[in-house]
Amino acid sequence: MAEQQDYEYAMRHSLAHIMATAIQDLWPGVKLGVGPVIENGFYYDVDLGDEKISDEDFPRIESRMQEIIASAQPFERFEMPVAEAVEWAKQYGQPYKEELLNDLQREGTTIAKDLDADTLGVAVDGDSKVENVSFYRNGDFTDLCRGPHVEATNKVGAFKIMRVAGAYWRGKDTNPQMQRVYGVAFATPKELRQYLDMLEEAKKRDHRKLGQELDIFVFSDLVGQGLPLWTPRGTVLKNQLDAFVQELREAVGFQQVSIPHITKKDLYETSGHWAKFKDELFRITTREGHEFAMKPMNCPHHTQIYASQPRSYRDLPVRYRDSTMVYRDEQSGELGGLSRVRGITQDDAHVFCRTSQVEEESFKLWDVIETFYRGCGFTELKYRLSTHDPDNMAGYAGDADKWESTVAQLENILKSKVGDNYFVGVGEAAFYGPKIDFMARDAIGREHQVATIQLDFNQPEGFDLTCTNEQGDPERIVMLHCAVMGSHERFLSVYIEHTAGKFPVWCAPEQIRLLSVNQESDTIAHVAQLQEQGRALGLRVGVDNSNESVGKKIRAAELWKVPYTLVIGEKEVQGGELTPRIRKDLVVDETSARSYTAEEFLKTVANEAKTRVNKTSL
Ligand SMILES: [Zn+2]
Ligand SMILES: [Zn+2]
Repeated sequence: MAEQQDYEYAMRHSLAHIMATAIQDLWPGVKLGVGPVIENGFYYDVDLGDEKISDEDFPRIESRMQEIIASAQPFERFEMPVAEAVEWAKQYGQPYKEELLNDLQREGTTIAKDLDADTLGVAVDGDSKVENVSFYRNGDFTDLCRGPHVEATNKVGAFKIMRVAGAYWRGKDTNPQMQRVYGVAFATPKELRQYLDMLEEAKKRDHRKLGQELDIFVFSDLVGQGLPLWTPRGTVLKNQLDAFVQELREAVGFQQVSIPHITKKDLYETSGHWAKFKDELFRITTREGHEFAMKPMNCPHHTQIYASQPRSYRDLPVRYRDSTMVYRDEQSGELGGLSRVRGITQDDAHVFCRTSQVEEESFKLWDVIETFYRGCGFTELKYRLSTHDPDNMAGYAGDADKWESTVAQLENILKSKVGDNYFVGVGEAAFYGPKIDFMARDAIGREHQVATIQLDFNQPEGFDLTCTNEQGDPERIVMLHCAVMGSHERFLSVYIEHTAGKFPVWCAPEQIRLLSVNQESDTIAHVAQLQEQGRALGLRVGVDNSNESVGKKIRAAELWKVPYTLVIGEKEVQGGELTPRIRKDLVVDETSARSYTAEEFLKTVANEAKTRVNKTSL
């Protein structure tokens, strides 16, 4: 496994060089930025001056790359002193490389630290003076690079150039704009094909497209970017999912609370959010000149409910839950569909407990998360222990010792739940504490970070939260933060694509659709009566009495991905049994189709909705 990953890394990185070689052959004056490996592929930042690479250039870049690959040029490594390397960059007409090397020479490091390790010829750590940098050469092409590379150009896997986008040099919009050419690469052509097929499928499932087709959410220019509006259908879906979470929480002792959406600055100064999220806060100045902010998080408010009365150890854990919106001023360029929004509905929950209760409480939260994701048809979860970065504590609240001990606490929880079946994400913690992140694999194999359990010892310090212990002394408590869906918006962006809009009966906006075969009054009356009967059982029953042909109406119900469709004609009006059309993905056994009395059918569906099954029992 590790070997495979090493090979993929080296081969993707080698392809970045090969692509740069090809681009240099085709556009000899090209100025090169950086060309790192990314998930599933690689990119290279290039500056062609007045010329631009477009999609139409991809075939010739690819065929030039194929020639370079076929010629089996070896990748040769060599080193030179930094000062010499600066001269090399000058001679070679590579101002971007020159800049990086100059930074390196001057500071011992470059400012774009994240880029360096992979793109420079050195390991850049802290302020150690760098002496030599390494280069790799293939054919006529030489690049500043740490490697590793495959032996020769013909040792790479299958690749494809995917797209080109604008990218500012070093990510700063005051810097020149370059072009970032992206490629994907896999060890075998088969893996590449599978990946490209997956992308095709993902396009069909794109939640922005389905959200519109299935009338789930809309955006309005007047309301603003990143502020989705939920239609009646979308609201049903969202509320059903939330109700599931809340029911599970209710069962383990959470109480619902409600809080206002704006707050004095003071709260966030105490919590640390003011300093941390300054630029992301929507601020409000009152007519009296007081500074308020739209809440970017709910925890500080919840601490104030906890702190509103004296707490004994006997009262703990205190558990609050509330699905409510928080607001973050994301940059408009980063907003997209439901994945990144400015109004974020969190299914938030906080546990206030003693340190000794952390484990038991985490297990409860863990079970809520597992039950929810299984119920939504995510069969595979992965677990990440997200820790602080001991080498770079600047972004974190609290001292390192405290971090070590809380990380160890979460580690124990993971170990007893899943053994070694988790991985560690160094530097992935929240600023106030480490967390366990849950990742779900969707129907087309993509992984998404979903739920979290976070252990927080900092806000209880900041807000001086205590309970009275057995000896009558105040004891510092800790907080657990746990969002199951994370946010409604983000979860739905994943869930819509996971299901391709084919929601199970329990959360489908329209569970049953009744189609009249004609417009006769007794047919219409029968349809209305069935709809009533269904509603009385809590079912969401739609009706199509339009003048269209039955075939067309069936097709329409299919497009809306309605789980059950009933065609109501003379036979049904006369009291004949109903033969439901069942959406294909719900069917377990295709031979089991039969007819039911109206009561039998409706009760069965109502029971499916109540028990939240993902398949039909009809
Ligand atoms: Zn390289
Ligand atoms: Zn929180």
